[in-house]
Amino acid sequence: MRTIESLGDLKGKRVLVRSDFNVPLDGDKITDDGRIRAALPTLQKLLDEGAKVIVMAHLGRPKGEVKPEFSLAPVAKRLGELVDAPVKLAKDITGESAKEEAANLEDGEILLLENVRFDPRETSKDDAEREEFASELAELADLFVSDGFGVVHRKQTSVYDIAQKLPSASGLLVLKEIESLSKATDNPERPYAVVLGGSKVSDKLGVIANLLKKADMLLIGGGMAFTFLKAQGLEVGKSLLEEDQLDTVKGYIEEAKERGVDLVLPVDVVVAPEFAKDATPTVVAADEIPADQMGLDIGPKSQELYVSKIAAAKTVAWNGPMGVFEFPAFAGGTKAVAGALSEGDAFSVVGGGDSAAAVRLLDFDESTFSHISTGGGASLELLEGKTLPGIAVLED
Ligand code: ADP
Ligand code: MG
Repeated sequence: MRTIESLGDLKGKRVLVRSDFNVPLDGDKITDDGRIRAALPTLQKLLDEGAKVIVMAHLGRPKGEVKPEFSLAPVAKRLGELVDAPVKLAKDITGESAKEEAANLEDGEILLLENVRFDPRETSKDDAEREEFASELAELADLFVSDGFGVVHRKQTSVYDIAQKLPSASGLLVLKEIESLSKATDNPERPYAVVLGGSKVSDKLGVIANLLKKADMLLIGGGMAFTFLKAQGLEVGKSLLEEDQLDTVKGYIEEAKERGVDLVLPVDVVVAPEFAKDATPTVVAADEIPADQMGLDIGPKSQELYVSKIAAAKTVAWNGPMGVFEFPAFAGGTKAVAGALSEGDAFSVVGGGDSAAAVRLLDFDESTFSHISTGGGASLELLEGKTLPGIAVLED
């Protein structure tokens, strides 16, 4: 992948950067600025090298219309507090305001364009429409740096088409994400444990199919575990179950056997009569789930088992919470797995939006993990072994 160094001397150059600033908002207040912070190393590097930096990003889903509630104004303000440079916000994306501000930008300054998704061409399925928008954006700058990892799986103007209009390279965040996630998909140091959970097995079929070919151990938790238990002939009561995936899952169990992959399922489960924060939790053996209860977490024996398996691994990839971690009574499994990754010496990668959110919600120190991906969908597609359009376009 082309890096910033390949772009040559940046002094005085206008560099257009795609960042992921899609932060959660409460009114005009940013409730988690993690994504802005993750974008800083690249922006700071470009500023330090004397570039004029023009940033494009999206916020929410304005669906191709100018909607003030999706303005990047709160992001511009927060970015100005975090970065050591003046930050200006254009009133549009490629209109009069953006053109004028871009033309007057000084070395070491940042101009943020308005929400790129205010323009319907950004996400258009029509190649010609996206290309036209890309040409307008390209007129603002000399070079392009792609650093919005959360959107690299999208074939959109600010991610894909623009990279073909200007000399382009990957930013530091995209580079770090790809390097870390490919350690979990290409040549993992062994033993390699993959921990998968989350809600539905049907969301993760591609991930299971791909990682089953690479892993030494596959530990299953979360809602998807019940389709696996059912496929083994157990009753799962009111737990999340996808009947239509039973055959596929039986196929995975068979494949794991053939490949000698240690497939580990919960041996006990925390059940409750309903899906609710204050539902009464009870621990039962995995083969004794009552017909009128649902499994909302892996049980304490399973926790112990999963922790010991993780401790034996040299590489661990984790995607998908082990239970309904949003409810404290059902967060134990997720806490145990996150703790094992955090405390262990293995190279540990966390992918998936909710898994990363769980690490933060449960108050783990993010620096104790080797890598926590900033891109939910993009990290899943990498774990599936897919080629991402926004990455392929940065390759020679
Ligand atoms: P990620 O975003 O990390 O890929 P998913 O989106 O697949 O993860 O799944 C996250 C959701 O799965 C969480 O909201 C969690 O509450 C839910 N979940 C975990 N275990 C269960 C379960 N046993 N029953 C129902 N939902 C579950
Ligand atoms: Mg999710």
